[in-house]
Amino acid sequence: MKRKLFLLYGGKSAEHEVSIRTAMSVIQAVDFNKYEVLPVYITEEGKWIKSSPLLGPVESVKQLEMKGREGEHSLIKVGSDLFDVAGPAEGDGEEEANHIIFPLLHGPNGEDGTVQGLLEVLNLPYVGNGVLASAVGMDKVLMKNLFQQAGLKQVRYVHFLRKEWEKDEEGCYGKTEKEIGYPCFVKPANLGSSVGINKCKNREDLVKAFHEAFQYDRKIIVEQGLKAREIEIGLLGNEEPECSVAGEIVPKKEFYDYQAKYEDGDTALIIPADLPEETYETIKAMAIKAFKALDCSGLARADFFVTDDLEVYINEINTMPGFTPVSMYPLLWKHSGLSYEQLVERLIQLGLERYREKQ
Ligand code: ADP
Ligand code: MG
Ligand code: MG
Repeated sequence: MKRKLFLLYGGKSAEHEVSIRTAMSVIQAVDFNKYEVLPVYITEEGKWIKSSPLLGPVESVKQLEMKGREGEHSLIKVGSDLFDVAGPAEGDGEEEANHIIFPLLHGPNGEDGTVQGLLEVLNLPYVGNGVLASAVGMDKVLMKNLFQQAGLKQVRYVHFLRKEWEKDEEGCYGKTEKEIGYPCFVKPANLGSSVGINKCKNREDLVKAFHEAFQYDRKIIVEQGLKAREIEIGLLGNEEPECSVAGEIVPKKEFYDYQAKYEDGDTALIIPADLPEETYETIKAMAIKAFKALDCSGLARADFFVTDDLEVYINEINTMPGFTPVSMYPLLWKHSGLSYEQLVERLIQLGLERYREKQ
């Protein structure tokens, strides 16, 4: 019998579009002889739409969305459908789960542990990181606090809540200038894809950046801006993750912003990154330490800054990194000998392993 593979995509998040692109690619990489693929589209409003099984590769996002609208369901309905179809294991418990959920969601309400929590409660196996790693990985402040505790080198940072800022704007700017200085980066605490992030060189930039970041989140982080190369590395596995080769991102702009990531297409990805062996080893060791500090499982992409004098700083871990075939994470694995199709299959197997170990 074919295993049922539910693909959750879209999502109530600023990274909705990105998730659709990811779903488009994963659908085309799945072995249809092995899996019955059941896409579940989550609208930007957070409505869950169960689509009929897709029988083959899909040509366009629109088509995928149209297919998704064949039967509208509420979250409860889809939740209970998933539960009915997948259900708790029957029999003596030795049986392999004949279903798995692949959350292809980026950003809040998907990459942040909320969907993972729903799947845990429904006792469903799923691909990727669990509740805790997803939640912490989504919050740049908590993530950095854990990195700090693990002794990982990173830039100076401060954070503010919207309420604090509304009460004392001047105080927040003053504290930032005193503790961080310029240039600095202002970011919403819980987002990705560079949405709402700005580099600031003076007070005027800072004021604008605070206003923008607070549109996305009630909590923001301000970091010391580094002049450095950006190096990323892939992690794959559960309790003993492996590292891919490292890659370098060379944005043609001031920094790697949303447009550079998804629209301009002229950001160079250099794989493998040209680094001295020693620096590469440092990055690998730090990546594994970071993965374990967050108690990650399945996959993660660890991102670093490397300065001219080869100092390595960890920037962040992404628990659901960009996942189209031209995204860094799958490309890193391709250069490490694992094709996109093999990567998708490996992730499904890791999700099943993790589920079995928990039972
Ligand atoms: P996201 O989770 O949205 O990817 P990042 O923290 O990775 O957010 O920031 C996005 C981009 O902004 C980075 O890839 C880098 O180009 C730039 N950037 C972020 N923080 C810093 C920093 N402290 N110093 C220098 N550049 C930074
Ligand atoms: Mg990120
Ligand atoms: Mg990033």
